[in-house]
Amino acid sequence: MADIVVGAGVIGLHIALYLQKSGRDVIVLDRNEADHNCSYGNAGYISPSHFIPLATPGMVWQGLKWMLDNQSPFYIKPRLNANLIKWGWLFWKNANHRTVQKNAPHLFRLLKLSRSLSIDLHEELGQSFTLKQDGCLMLYTNKKTGHEEEVLARQAKNDYGLDVPVLDNRELKLLDPLISNKVLGGAYYKIDCHLHPREMMNVLKARLVEKGVKIVLNENIKSLDVHGRVLQNVITDCATYPVDNFIIAAGSWSPLLCTQLGIDLPLQAGKGYSHTYQQPHHNIQYPAILVDHRVAMTPMGNDLRVGGTMEISGLDLNVSRQRIPPIIQAANLYYNDLNLPVPPVDQVWAGLRPVSPDGLPYIGKDQNYKNVFVATGHAMIGISSAAATGLLLSQMITGQTTEIQMDVFRVNRF
Ligand SMILES: Cc1cc2nc3c(=O)[nH]c(=O)nc-3n(C[C@H](O)[C@H](O)[C@H](O)COP(=O)(O)OP(=O)(O)OC[C@H]3O[C@@H](n4cnc5c(N)ncnc54)[C@H](O)[C@@H]3O)c2cc1C
Repeated sequence: MADIVVGAGVIGLHIALYLQKSGRDVIVLDRNEADHNCSYGNAGYISPSHFIPLATPGMVWQGLKWMLDNQSPFYIKPRLNANLIKWGWLFWKNANHRTVQKNAPHLFRLLKLSRSLSIDLHEELGQSFTLKQDGCLMLYTNKKTGHEEEVLARQAKNDYGLDVPVLDNRELKLLDPLISNKVLGGAYYKIDCHLHPREMMNVLKARLVEKGVKIVLNENIKSLDVHGRVLQNVITDCATYPVDNFIIAAGSWSPLLCTQLGIDLPLQAGKGYSHTYQQPHHNIQYPAILVDHRVAMTPMGNDLRVGGTMEISGLDLNVSRQRIPPIIQAANLYYNDLNLPVPPVDQVWAGLRPVSPDGLPYIGKDQNYKNVFVATGHAMIGISSAAATGLLLSQMITGQTTEIQMDVFRVNRF
């Protein structure tokens, strides 16, 4: 018998890591090679700065406005789909000031814990993947956005003790001379870090294998053998696996598995794109979010990754051609001399973020089963909160007191 983790994305691998550390036998099961899922082409931020959940009042109105614009960075494709309708209703219901402010401290605790665990892990693994503690700039070109960023920076300082100077254009240029005159200012979250996602995932996989975790790839789950409140066996097209605990960490596909077990999990895939420019002539000095355009830029060694968009359009990895130029145009607007060309569509990476309707991940046990756990819904903070998710879930499974309070992340909250 072993703990079976479904999904070899960043969440599944971290769960496997901490379960293995606490002495459990672990099998990670993925239906494909698991080398092109959402955990690879992302921006690599470890960002305690992201303590405001996605579902905010501003996001609802902005989203409605953007729905009419086929180049916008946020888009919901209208569909007659029961999960989408419920998800949309819950998103709207949670997008109010009171819920956002109630959830923010929980999110911050999760992110802060994860940052510290990721840094420890980086050391433990002999610094064998790139992780830099350079912070992140939230750059804006619009006065109103600047005001909102100042308010957030103040909240970060007053509520969480973060050092977040808000810099004007001149001060920003001292940090990065490429920043253009169009940028009015930026909040500098010194606490944020960034890593190279593919390097980290490869190192983590190798460590798991070295420690005896079995990573089983290219097997499809055919059925789940349930007796009463216990899931006893996982039957794939190749083998039957007796189960101690069953952990669903299948990212955007998690609701499909949940449905097989009668678990209702409101979750939508939020598609995003990125392109990595190999050794551009000029590179940026600090990771930066171009706030008005919802674009993320990360220097990755000598390369530069630029990414963005949030398209709620189902489990579809096709690239919407028209959404790529605005991402690259934003990068060229905020920075001088980059002159980044729009990449051909076949060189654009697409990933599906698992998005919960209240901006909090689901981490915990399903109430109807004795041994079924869910860990997904990390949306834009999967890299940022994977280590904490792994530790916390392993603490729950092994009956330890969790590092932080987990009720707010419970699976059956809707
Ligand atoms: C453009 C972009 C930029 C981003 N930037 C950042 C960032 O800077 N920082 C950050 O924290 N987050 C970022 N994210 C979000 C982050 O990438 C995700 O939250 C994270 O990768 C989700 O990880 P996951 O393990 O839940 O899912 P995935 O990485 O998608 O992995 C899920 C795995 O489950 C497997 N699977 C699914 N169904 C089954 C099944 N039935 N049986 C077996 N296996 C199954 C899949 O094959 C897949 O390998 C970004 C995302 C995008 C799109």
